[in-house]
Amino acid sequence: MHIHDLIGIGFGPSNIALAIALEEHGQRHGKVDACFIERQGGFAWHPDMLLDHAHMQISFLKDLVTPRNPSSRYSFLNYLHEKSRLQDFINLKTFFPSRHEFNDYLAWTASHFEHQCAFGESVFEVLPEMQGKDVSLLRVRSRDASGQVHERLTRSLVIGVGGAPNIPPSFAGLQDDTRVFHSSRYLSELGRQQAPRRLAVIGAGQSAAEIFLDLAQRDGTEVDLITRCWAFKPSDDSPFVNEIFNPEYTDYVFNNATGQRAALLEEYMNTNYAAPDLELIQQIFEVFYRQKVTGSQRHRFRRRHEVEAVVADDAGVHLRVANLDTGDSDSTCYDGVVLATGYQRQVHRDLLAPLQPWLGECSVNRHYQVQAAEGFRPAVFLQGCCEPTHGLSDTLLSVMAVRTAEICQALQHALPRASARASAAHAEPVAAMAQG
Ligand SMILES: Cc1cc2nc3c(=O)[nH]c(=O)nc-3n(C[C@H](O)[C@H](O)[C@H](O)COP(=O)(O)OP(=O)(O)OC[C@H]3O[C@@H](n4cnc5c(N)ncnc54)[C@H](O)[C@@H]3O)c2cc1C
Repeated sequence: MHIHDLIGIGFGPSNIALAIALEEHGQRHGKVDACFIERQGGFAWHPDMLLDHAHMQISFLKDLVTPRNPSSRYSFLNYLHEKSRLQDFINLKTFFPSRHEFNDYLAWTASHFEHQCAFGESVFEVLPEMQGKDVSLLRVRSRDASGQVHERLTRSLVIGVGGAPNIPPSFAGLQDDTRVFHSSRYLSELGRQQAPRRLAVIGAGQSAAEIFLDLAQRDGTEVDLITRCWAFKPSDDSPFVNEIFNPEYTDYVFNNATGQRAALLEEYMNTNYAAPDLELIQQIFEVFYRQKVTGSQRHRFRRRHEVEAVVADDAGVHLRVANLDTGDSDSTCYDGVVLATGYQRQVHRDLLAPLQPWLGECSVNRHYQVQAAEGFRPAVFLQGCCEPTHGLSDTLLSVMAVRTAEICQALQHALPRASARASAAHAEPVAAMAQG
């Protein structure tokens, strides 16, 4: 079986940025044989949240390359140039393209690396390949839509799988009920509903705000926005605060002691979590203000409320909701419930579970490499799940371009030694596929 230098799990922005960095790094330091495995059938960036009026929350200059290599041909500006839209974009006078356009930019970058990516396969485990007492290689197992299991061997691994939907415990039993869905499936699931009239949106972040406005603009809908907080607080993107998303700040966070890191995260939480853009907040406020003018009760802002219990039957999804100030509760029946309740970033632990004896709790060094026990030779890197050690920029686009350069550097050190040992160890061919 062929042995790759590197396998990347997921082909979202993080690993596309890495594919670009490897290509550009390879021009000076030698080619790395990299293969990426992506669950979706083709590239798409949060496709179920590509809402018509949604915009980027970050400058287009923080694309997949510019902060690392402003002269890269994979920049957003070169994308515009190649699409013959550069002049028009300049006339837009914005740093914040639509999410549709940024998705198109990302798809354009991904298209240059399609030959390196296996689309339509979901990785479900990574196994150790032993050489004596040492782990010499990793065996990456994935499953395609037909159930067929694919196996690949690699000397190093980069996990960039993004977040998994965070489902509040009260909704855990309703995962198969199509009337209750997470924001990450919003457009697809809404499209499957039979003209829903009464809907609840749970959450107070950017996605909750966008979904509320999207639903409120649809004819005949009545939407309850249910949130534990009293007020929507805007994302703080003022210039000094924005410096926490500079690459140097990653050093600042990483070099702090664990307790101080947690305090830093807490202090700037409002840059990214439960913090929609001010413009969106103003639009939502206007929706409720217009209702006051007309005396309508069509949409409700259920501030300081929490879902206590959920019961689903043929009539709909019944939410018992408690007022956190008074303790009173009431029940409402909905045709659909959207959980804009954020993401968890633990998927890497499940994928790496068979390697736990060597990788322990998956703690990473500054270069995002998982610290391994003696005798574990492959290099394993994590992208997008190192927020506790590397700061709030970790899950965003902000430091992505620079992070990939750091991973490339670390790979350069890790690979020659690993590949020399592995090629000696793996003279025997092994079956490339097993039926799942
Ligand atoms: C709606 C929305 C809007 C956002 N807007 C912004 C913004 O404006 N600015 C910003 O900085 N950040 C934004 N973000 C944050 C977002 O996390 C980053 O923009 C970016 O998507 C992170 O890239 P990633 O590759 O790490 O993760 P993802 O984009 O989540 O990509 C991960 C990829 O891995 C694949 N995958 C997952 N599991 C497996 C598996 N087991 N096997 C194979 N493939 C797998 C997924 O299908 C996906 O394609 C937004 C997030 C959301 C949800």
